Amino acid sequence: MEGLAAPQPVTALRRVGPAMQERLAKLGIGSVVDLLFHLPSRYQDRTRIVPIGSLRPGDHAVVEGELSAAEVKVGRRRMLLAQLVDGTGTIVLRFFYFTAAQQASLTRGTRLRCFGEVRPGATGLEMVHPEYRRPNGDQPPAVEEHLTPIYPTTEGLQQTTLRQLTDQALDLLTQGELPLLELLPAELLPAGGELPLAEALHFLHRPPPDAPLALLADGRHPAQQRLAFEELLAHHLSLRQLRLASNRQRAPALRPRRALVEALLAALPFSLTAAQQRVWGEIADDLAQFHPMMRLVQGDVGSGKTVVAALAALRAVEAEHQAAVMAPTELLAEQHFRNFSHWLTPLGIEVAWLAGKLKGKARKAALERILSGEVGVVVGTHALFQDDVAFQALGLVIVDEQHRFGVHQRLALREKGARAGRQPHQLIMTATPIPRTLAMTAYADLDLSTIDELPPGRTPVETAVLPDSRRDEVVARVAGACAEGRQAYWVCTVIEESELLEAQAAADTAALLQQMLPQLRVGLVHGRLKADEKEQVMAAFKGGELDLLVATTVIEVGVDVPNATLMIIENAERLGLAQLHQLRGRVGRGAGKSHCLLLYHPPLSAMSRSRLAILRESNDGFEIARRDLELRGPGELLGTRQTGLMQLKIADLRRDQALLPAVNRAAGILVRQAPERIPALVRRWVAGGDRYGTV
Ligand code: ADP
Ligand code: MG
Repeated sequence: MEGLAAPQPVTALRRVGPAMQERLAKLGIGSVVDLLFHLPSRYQDRTRIVPIGSLRPGDHAVVEGELSAAEVKVGRRRMLLAQLVDGTGTIVLRFFYFTAAQQASLTRGTRLRCFGEVRPGATGLEMVHPEYRRPNGDQPPAVEEHLTPIYPTTEGLQQTTLRQLTDQALDLLTQGELPLLELLPAELLPAGGELPLAEALHFLHRPPPDAPLALLADGRHPAQQRLAFEELLAHHLSLRQLRLASNRQRAPALRPRRALVEALLAALPFSLTAAQQRVWGEIADDLAQFHPMMRLVQGDVGSGKTVVAALAALRAVEAEHQAAVMAPTELLAEQHFRNFSHWLTPLGIEVAWLAGKLKGKARKAALERILSGEVGVVVGTHALFQDDVAFQALGLVIVDEQHRFGVHQRLALREKGARAGRQPHQLIMTATPIPRTLAMTAYADLDLSTIDELPPGRTPVETAVLPDSRRDEVVARVAGACAEGRQAYWVCTVIEESELLEAQAAADTAALLQQMLPQLRVGLVHGRLKADEKEQVMAAFKGGELDLLVATTVIEVGVDVPNATLMIIENAERLGLAQLHQLRGRVGRGAGKSHCLLLYHPPLSAMSRSRLAILRESNDGFEIARRDLELRGPGELLGTRQTGLMQLKIADLRRDQALLPAVNRAAGILVRQAPERIPALVRRWVAGGDRYGTV
């Protein structure tokens, strides 16, 4: 097994010396087995000769024919142009760089076989700098036996070299020289996917000419699914190991010493919902243990996660430890600071603020009070984890909006907070609802609590979907709401993911709306503003000095202005449902009836129409996530915005979600029945996987 016998280093292969070894190392390839798991990113079909007449722009194809003309043109740029004909059509071969010898060989009447990308040219289709050679006389046409793999590569490493090396590795595989490559018993594989690993690897490195290219390009071929399954399993297991490791670590047991938690509960103007009580109970149990809590609390927008976090912080303080609360933006951190101060200061607890913009004396003073232990709770951004921040006794780290942090940040955070062999407890809060199977795979290092109930007395936000051609009506709605003393948000989005364009669009919209509604006080926030400018505008809006806030999606999380009862979202069809739901959660926070108008730019596709209808029909983030998942998979939940989540090579959490139940099942079985295989599996698939077992 890889884990037992030392894996064969790549230098065991012919033509791999120190220089080549170094280049391969850049691709993460150290052993012969690694090479086998370095899979092609795409394929070319050089297995057959394509009639020129059937070529389409964008094809990569082999063609063969005779040159009907060849000439060097001297215009703005000197080039060699040749025309290849095969009886079905003509294609132009264009060379900007060529030697005299090439020029001499490419003459009228020469027979050539070329491979290249077909592009539209001025006078029909052409290939620029095709690979070409003269087919040798009467021998049968030597096309390739397999689809040609194109590997991800690095400087100085040619495709042909990678092919030669993988050829050698595949030979060793066939000869049984790479024993126990197979780590998974067949009965663990999902039904229909029981392809032996060696077969899957062979297929993917050297697909036969009739391999279904479209299926391969999609990653849905059974050979790819076999590997995707193994990869997801390896990641899942690495996260489970992380959890097991954390059970072996020590943490301060935070148990009630004073009645601070009771005091806050008594002082709150409301009582906890049953869901908040349950989740707080789960957290309190964890905190009382001698090993670190690793718990993720999910709760829809407005479900009251903050107060639960405050209770946890209080528990730390009453057990003579400190708590740190970290938010991803200054805006959010500032809001938490206000809430925590409001709740905790009356109980005699000092709450400190630490964000990037805190400088000089104020920062120094805060740092001193954190170190001396006078400060009980620190709220801030990433600035909390800078080197010069030292705690007297950090017992708990609370991270809000976890979806912006991946497993590596979670680890870093823990290492940072560790002191004298003890780790702080970790509480992670997210408003992004993640369906259970997905959460079990992607967050297997965390325990999961769900606040699945909203505080009573909320009136659900009423949502309407309108074409942007009805903008005048919408503007009139804004005027009406503001005339009643209410406030409104107008959210601008653009097609490209560009902060600059988005800011520009928001500025234009703000100017336009101010023109149309001169009686209103219009504010503007976007990501290009400095943090303090942003906060000034937000504070003015919160203080009622602005009626209408035009914003980009920067207002997405956590902003709490109960008097705002109307939200307009432009180009709603371009945003994910989870994001729209989060945005919408900015209204409906007070007693007043709230409305959300989703504007779209016609025509609206059937898919977009059904998706927006989901938002109109439901105010429940989990229900919305579930239905969106049915429609289009978890990409939006776990997609680009969650890049830190898992570094997957082959699997795709969106595409391969159907594999997840089998992954979870297989993980359980492996842990019980073949734990000795786990390290090799993790090492094979997870970058830096060795680390996971030891932290
Ligand atoms: P989120 O889960 O989105 O972070 P918050 O913690 O900001 O939600 O809570 C939203 C609002 O609901 C806040 O104003 C908070 O004070 C209030 N709230 C929290 N819990 C309750 C409750 N049990 N009953 C009534 N209001 C509550
Ligand atoms: Mg919140």
